[in-house]
Amino acid sequence: MQEFAGGVAMRYRPLPDGEPIPVLGLGTWGMGEARSSGDDMVAALRLGLDLGMTLIDTAEMYGEGGAEQLAGKAIAGRRDGVFLVSKVYPHNATRAGTIAACERSLKRLGTDRLDLYLLHWRGEVPLDETLDAFAALRRSGKIRHYGVSNFAVADMVELWSRPGGDGTAANQVLYNLGRRGIEWDLLPWCREHRVPVMAYSPIEQGRLLRRRALGDLARRRGATPAQLALAWLLARDPVVAIPKAGRPEHVRENCAALDLALTGPELAELDRAFPPPHRARPLEML
Ligand code: NAP
Repeated sequence: MQEFAGGVAMRYRPLPDGEPIPVLGLGTWGMGEARSSGDDMVAALRLGLDLGMTLIDTAEMYGEGGAEQLAGKAIAGRRDGVFLVSKVYPHNATRAGTIAACERSLKRLGTDRLDLYLLHWRGEVPLDETLDAFAALRRSGKIRHYGVSNFAVADMVELWSRPGGDGTAANQVLYNLGRRGIEWDLLPWCREHRVPVMAYSPIEQGRLLRRRALGDLARRRGATPAQLALAWLLARDPVVAIPKAGRPEHVRENCAALDLALTGPELAELDRAFPPPHRARPLEML
């Protein structure tokens, strides 16, 4: 499915129930932490939305609510055109705690519903309690879908064994060219179970862009290292990438990655520089 937005054709991936979400969204970690008004961050998010990157990823953790407040300003007046994702802290993820945390997030975001609500990482609270809360939030219309983040394969298998666990709509994990461990087991598992993988830190918070192999290929290709790193992710099924960009030039640059199709020889060159895993590895987190 394609839709022409801002000069670039956005692509979509289906959630397990078939609802399409954009393959390229907007991260917010680090936003809302400074004492400044954050108007520049709001403008960057609004630019991203204008360009068709209509998925915003945030969390109660980011700036302790500050990022949700900025995301709320960015979506004001255009809520229906946005797929809004937020996350609950594991220590809040009890049955009552999840519901209360969601209500606080909704207030900061200035909306009556989240499109996707994720357990940020696995903590001490039994999964059944969080799943129970997710079910109650869905019944009351406060969330439309629920999911998890930083769940390894063993966690996914356990989740699937719990009541409501197989209703999980996404798993958000660290994934980029330099962090390919999930290709051994988690990515195939999610593909088989039709669960989108939301790749966070898709350019390793900028560090990936300093890798020479990426720079060399980008130069030859007439693209930037960030575009190459994002295009590589976007070509992988069932991956959705959520780069964070506070600068407008970065937002535009990232969006243009949608136009970059990598050839077989280019993918092979990237495999040599950033080898896929040859054995199972523990899931990495940032
Ligand atoms: P990232 O998106 O890999 O990198 C963000 C950094 O890269 C920012 O410093 C940004 O700078 C810079 N940047 C963006 N586009 C660029 C470009 N085209 N060229 C050069 N630099 C560029 O890292 P991230 O923020 O950690 O991850 C993305 C999002 O994933 C987060 O914001 C958050 O929403 C989510 N996340 C989730 C988890 C989780 O546990 N679930 C963990 C980490 C992140 P400027 O801001 O100056 O433009």
